[in-house]
Amino acid sequence: MDEKIISRDDLLKICQDVIEKGNTLLTPGAADYSVVKDVSKIDLDASALPSKISYKSYVFPRTEPVLYYKRSKNDVQLIDVNIDSKKIVILGAKPCDANSLNIMKHLFNWDYSDDFFNMRAKNFIVIGLMCSQFDEYCFCTSVGSSPVSEKGSDIFLIPLDANTYALKIITDKGKEFISPYNGHLKSGDENRSKRITENVKLPETAFDSSEVYEWLGENFESPKWEGVGNLCLSCAQCAFVCPVCHCFDIMDEDYSYTEGRRMKNWDGCQFGNFTLHASGHNPRDIQSKRYRQRVNHKFRYYVNKFGEILCTGCGRCSRGCPVSIDIKEIVSNCKNDQKELK
Ligand code: SF4
Ligand code: SF4
Repeated sequence: MDEKIISRDDLLKICQDVIEKGNTLLTPGAADYSVVKDVSKIDLDASALPSKISYKSYVFPRTEPVLYYKRSKNDVQLIDVNIDSKKIVILGAKPCDANSLNIMKHLFNWDYSDDFFNMRAKNFIVIGLMCSQFDEYCFCTSVGSSPVSEKGSDIFLIPLDANTYALKIITDKGKEFISPYNGHLKSGDENRSKRITENVKLPETAFDSSEVYEWLGENFESPKWEGVGNLCLSCAQCAFVCPVCHCFDIMDEDYSYTEGRRMKNWDGCQFGNFTLHASGHNPRDIQSKRYRQRVNHKFRYYVNKFGEILCTGCGRCSRGCPVSIDIKEIVSNCKNDQKELK
């Protein structure tokens, strides 16, 4: 791994060049990752909590057409969509967001290779930023990550002081991105950045994910799911803010009798009609079954299928839940017979 030092001024010059070349530059704010127009306003704050929404929609949009169609009397013509695939640079991705594309890519390349996801993901450059702050909802350390994890970043920044960063080149993609700007980089001192990362305060480990995996396998019918099922409103806010939830629905929208488009729209397993069959039967007809599905999918089924937990521990779903359901508490309390799940 190659470690360098870069000043804030030089980092902003790189950002300016990224924008002038017609690429999209995103940075996190309190609400969202937003497109940067004025680099002087970039505030790379390692002590900020995760934004309310992750950058998932830039690789997997909330809604998008996947094809257009035209009907004539005896034929249907299908018209491909041009996939928007310009380079997107994410500057200052939280470690709990940086690895999200790596986790989701399994699903989008499992039984079918999704060109929409893959082309955009290929054009992403993730510049991660060490995280120096956590709240009661964060649990990255319980799902195999940490505030100093470089997983998923192409380049990783560690603030050395208010105006200087250690810059680690993690991937070949990161190397290729930064090479035109090598003139802005100075030799790094790994000991200095190591002292900083070793002293970062870590969120306490809340649960052992392998024990949770075992418990879920043995307690599918546990009455404990009723508690959280009675509380949950089925609003699916938790899925929409999640950096790795990826359910979608496909719907045809007719403009007229002869023309229309096929849309891919975000969906959520907490909605009551998510598993409603055309026959009227619904295998997840009550909310406790749907919440059980959410936890099993994240901590057991995805592990079985792809060897990864479908959760980065960012805590967004809990921070935003209108009835204060906290996934960290739910998962931590699974095994505890004295505690209800709510
Ligand atoms: S857990 Fe909270 S955010 Fe998620 S569906 Fe239930 S009420 Fe909505
Ligand atoms: S399930 Fe919740 S804590 Fe886990 S990644 Fe999604 S939003 Fe973050």
